[in-house]
Parts: sequence; C-alpha cells; structure tokens
Amino acid sequence: MVLELKDKILETLGKEADKTGYRIYVVGGYTRDFILGKKDTDIDIMVLGDATEFAHVAAKKFGTELNAVYKNFGTALLIINQNDFEYKIEFASARKESYNKNSRKPEVEFATLQEDISRRDFTINTLAVSLNSENFGELIDLYNGEEDIRHGIIKTPLDPLKTFDDDPLRIMRAIRFASKLNFKIEENTFNAVIKMKERLAESEVVSVERITDEFLQILMTPKPSIGLDLMFKTGVMAIVFPEISIMAGVDQRKDYHHKDVFYHTLQVVDNISQKTDNVWLRFAALVHDIAKPKTKKFVEGIGWTFHAHEEVGARMMKKIFQRMRLPLAQLPYIEKLIRLHLRPIPLAKDEVTDSAIRRLAADAGEDLEDLLTLCRADITSKNIAKVSKFFKNYEIVEKKIIEVQEKDKLRNFQSPVRGEEIMEYFKIPPSRAVGIIKKKIEEAILEGIIPNEYEDARRYMETLEL
Ligand code: ATP
Ligand code: MG
Repeated sequence: MVLELKDKILETLGKEADKTGYRIYVVGGYTRDFILGKKDTDIDIMVLGDATEFAHVAAKKFGTELNAVYKNFGTALLIINQNDFEYKIEFASARKESYNKNSRKPEVEFATLQEDISRRDFTINTLAVSLNSENFGELIDLYNGEEDIRHGIIKTPLDPLKTFDDDPLRIMRAIRFASKLNFKIEENTFNAVIKMKERLAESEVVSVERITDEFLQILMTPKPSIGLDLMFKTGVMAIVFPEISIMAGVDQRKDYHHKDVFYHTLQVVDNISQKTDNVWLRFAALVHDIAKPKTKKFVEGIGWTFHAHEEVGARMMKKIFQRMRLPLAQLPYIEKLIRLHLRPIPLAKDEVTDSAIRRLAADAGEDLEDLLTLCRADITSKNIAKVSKFFKNYEIVEKKIIEVQEKDKLRNFQSPVRGEEIMEYFKIPPSRAVGIIKKKIEEAILEGIIPNEYEDARRYMETLEL
C-alpha cells in the first residue's frame, strides 16, 4: 500500500537520503495519525545507519542547524518552521536495544528495519513509511498495525509479558494511548499489564519522572477518565498514585451511603477537561477530594461527613509532590485550590457580607477564576434541576465578587475636590480637618448621595461644616 503523504518536508528528506545513500522511513505517531486522518507535526524518522550523520545533512539542506544531537543514542532533533507549522523532526538510527531513553546502556547497535520495528511498544506504532524516491509512501506493516489502528486496538507486537518486562513504562504508554485515542487494550496485553504492573514500582528499572510524565500526559488526553479508570482497574493506580485509588468504593451504614469519591472525581476531571488545557487545573480537579477517605466519618443522625477534608487534602500534597517528583513550583497553586474549593458555595446566600466575598477574592488572588472553574466542574449531580440551581448560585457568587470589586475600586478613589481647594474654601492650614472633609465627600459619593462629579462634590463640600 502506498500512502499519499502530504508534507513537503518528507519528500525533501527522502531526496536528500537518495543523494547520500541512506534509507529512511517515517515511523511512530506520525504514521499512526496519518492513518487516523490527523495531521501531526512531530515526525519520527528512522534511518538505517548513523542517524546523526544524516540529520546533519538534512539540517544543512534546510539551511539550518540541528537543535540537539544525542550521539550516545544515535538520535538528533531538528525543528523547522514551514507553512505556519513548527515541525519537530527526530532522527533515530534503527537499533536493537530498547526504546528506554533513560536506559543505562545507551550504546546503539545499528540494526535492520525489521529488528527495530519488533522492539516497538504497540502494533499501532510499528508502521514505517519509506521516504526514498524509489518507493516514496510505501507502507511497511509487519505486525498488522494498520488494521489495529482502524479497529482501535492496542496490543504489543511480541509477547506482552516480555514487552512490559523489558520496559515497564510501556504499561503507562498503553494506558495513555488508550485514553488519548479512545482505543481498547486487547485482552492478552491487558492481562499482561495486570501481571507486570509491580515492575513500575522498581525505580531502578523505570524512573519516577518518566512515570509521572506519562501520568500527566494521560491527564492531558481529551477524556482523562478513560486512562484513569484503566489505571484503577488494572491496579496501576494503586502503585503510581495510591491516594487516588483508595477513593473508590462506597460505605453503607443504615440508610446512608456517600457518593463513590473516585468515580465522582473522574467526572469532575472530565468536566474540567472540557474547559481547560491547563494540566495543573486538571490535576487540582483530580486531587480536590483526596482527603475524603481519610476524613470520612459516620455521624449518628447526620450521616457521612468529611470534616476538614479540604484542609487535610491541601496538607497531603507536599509529600505527594515530592514522591512523584512533580514540580514544586506548582504546589502552592494546587494546595490553594484544594483548600478553597468549598468556600464559594455558601457565598450565594442572600445574607452574605461584602467582607466574606472580599476575603475569598483575596485568598484566591489571581486564581479566583480557576477556583470557580473547579467549583463548576465539581457539579456532577444527575438531577437537572439541581445542576441548574448550582450553576445559578455560582453566577450569583461571581456577580457579587464583581460588585464588591467595583465598590473597592471606588473606595480607593479620591474625592474630585482636592485638598488645596478645601483649605482655600475653609481658610484652614493643612490639618486633620482637611482629611475629614475629604472623607465626608468620598463617603457621600460611595453612599450614592451625590454623583462622582466635580460640580456636585464642590456643592456638597460647601454644605459641610468644620
Ligand atoms: P505521540 O503522539 O505521543 O508522540 P508516538 O507514538 O510518536 O506518540 P513517542 O513517544 O514520540 O510516541 O515515540 C515514538 C515511537 O517510538 C513510538 O511510536 C514507538 O514506536 C517508539 N517508542 C517510544 N517509546 C517506546 C518504548 N518505551 N518502548 C517501545 N517503543 C517505544
Ligand atoms: Mg512522537
């Protein structure tokens, strides 16, 4: 089969390969996305022979230099801007060793196309398309990858147990691709995930950073609940993020039960993912109820309570950030959103004071909008009437915040009649009295007794007594 690759860059690369005697192929995500009808600007090029040498030649052809060279791994990166797109081209030598980029033995052993392809993680990632002119666009499909892409199936090209044993990160990758592409993990591969998951806990085999990176990528998929639920059902979540895993389940006591916190959370994460691509806001949605299992208590006559779960949850985050090697710069933001996530709800009531509103606005600071986005995503009731009432309440809160902010802006304003004028009119030197008159004018404007205009303020001043 011949694919009609559209990107001119690929033709240019192919012709350069012809001239210099290399054989090159486009592989990985680009070919997968092409079959799925999606444009991709991340291009993985496989080179038979020394990829870094060919990469230099290619960079020259485009009149630029390589952006990075990893001689040990036989890979190089070239970034090219063309037709309003930024193409990231990664050149890699066909090789025998595994695709673990942090692998301790980075020496590359050049290999054949077949050898390289068989080392790849999933059949959907095994397609190679030739770029040399002789057979430009020809699809090499050794493991029926095209069919699996069309059927939405994730499975390993070789024995899944061995594949996951060689590089346990592939367990996370399987789940990430399932979530991103909404594909199913084929049964044997799925069972191997369950069997091999403990390997993820061996940090000398796969680093925490790489696992966390995949985890955040799962959070960035359009519907993260697919990946998060797969992590839970396979037991991967219990290893990677146990605090999330134990949110699952519902306790029943007499006639009382509470919502399953895990599935409620997944719904919140999906909701917020429709509103934001900010991975940290999505992360906040994932962890906002993280202390519910810990604080859960059955109170006679009331039912289930989760007293102070927002505070306890916020305090749990530092350890989690350290353990998962999450960027500590994001910690205060996450702590803040967890801590404040219940605060906006009661502010919709009529009798709420300006100062309560002002305090929330001050505590949330520049993250107030994110906080309200989180609160809205937190509405997961199936009762349509309830949902619309809750949404309305947040509208009320938002309106109140704007009103208070407007008032505060006014409070910081200055009387349109200046101090010198007051001194001149009352024939007094600079003194406390000047300030008092000024304050009276400002109060009159704030109270709406007079408009915020010079003429009115002047006339009002003339009615005042020292
Ligand atoms: P994405 O759209 O996320 O970039 P991708 O398939 O291009 O998806 P990359 O991580 O960029 O994924 O890797 C490029 C290719 O390298 C993959 O398609 C796969 O064939 C191979 N690969 C990457 N990591 C591994 C791994 N850990 N084990 C085996 N093969 C891997
Ligand atoms: Mg890629």
